[in-house]
Amino acid sequence: MYVNPIGLGTNAVGGHNIYPNLSDDTGKQVVRTAFENGINFLDTAYIYGPEHSERLIGEVIQEKGNRQDVVIATKGSHKLVDGKMVHDNSPAFLTECVESSLKRLHTDFIDLFYIHFPDQNTPKAEAVGALKRLKDAGKIRAIGVSNFSIEQLKEANVHGDVDVLQSEYNLFKRSVEQEILPYCAGNNISFVPYFPLAAGLLGGKYTRDTKFDDGRARNPMFQGEEFARNLAKVDQLRTIADAKHAEVAHVVLAWYLTVESIDALIPGAKKPEQVLNNLKTLQVRLTADEIAKIDQIFQV
Ligand code: NAP
Repeated sequence: MYVNPIGLGTNAVGGHNIYPNLSDDTGKQVVRTAFENGINFLDTAYIYGPEHSERLIGEVIQEKGNRQDVVIATKGSHKLVDGKMVHDNSPAFLTECVESSLKRLHTDFIDLFYIHFPDQNTPKAEAVGALKRLKDAGKIRAIGVSNFSIEQLKEANVHGDVDVLQSEYNLFKRSVEQEILPYCAGNNISFVPYFPLAAGLLGGKYTRDTKFDDGRARNPMFQGEEFARNLAKVDQLRTIADAKHAEVAHVVLAWYLTVESIDALIPGAKKPEQVLNNLKTLQVRLTADEIAKIDQIFQV
């Protein structure tokens, strides 16, 4: 599967349960802008909405008639039980997840299906075995897992069937560098980092006075002294970005593309302008010195 290294994360397309005051029209325009400008890798999930992100993307794909040109990744594992969300990786439930995502996306195949979160009970090789059967049946084209620990990943990949791992990774959150990234590189697994812009913090436009009306308002990274320290690190990136006539977000995204085992990124966008802006990353080439300097700023 070949994709533009700059893809699109769509939890702000129809993700009314994640961000307040989202407009469906703007969300669909974000997706159209991506398609019209060469982005062909979209990341969604059942839980964004729930269901709504997949439906909006399905509508835009129908309208455009470009299904074959688009690589759609979606995820499942969330299950509502007695009013509570739990995770289920059982073969029967994952099969149900794939079937219902196919309907919402108006498609007869999903390019990449991820187990969104591990559950407590299902042996991981059994869960991946269900996805392998769906792959053999042509319902999905590639197998992904998300939010798996190194142990869970190794268990899931015991037969070498895992194609992609998606987990949190950005310049502030680097724990996957210890074991997970080397394992992916050594086992031909493509690593897709989520929160590449640290939910906007690495976008370079927030100040100490920026106020958040979503989950970020409760996240310590966006509060008090920790927020101030984080902003100071982002400010150091500005010097590197200015010298390259680029913006902080482009330099950050370009840095991930230098990491072995990362082939593509899925920065989220709330507005069409952000989609276009993130594409400018493709014009940025970092020198070895710049790569090392960025690394160093975020080591302390
Ligand atoms: P992200 O990519 O780290 O940050 C996206 C936010 O950054 C945007 O909503 C926007 O926020 C800001 N932004 C975007 N482009 C920018 C630019 N060019 N310059 C400055 N700021 C910019 O966070 P995310 O969207 O939550 O994560 C990416 C994707 O990963 C999601 O959309 C989703 O598909 C996936 N994801 C997966 C999991 C999982 O469990 N597997 C979990 C979370 C996310 P503002 O407009 O508010 O500034």
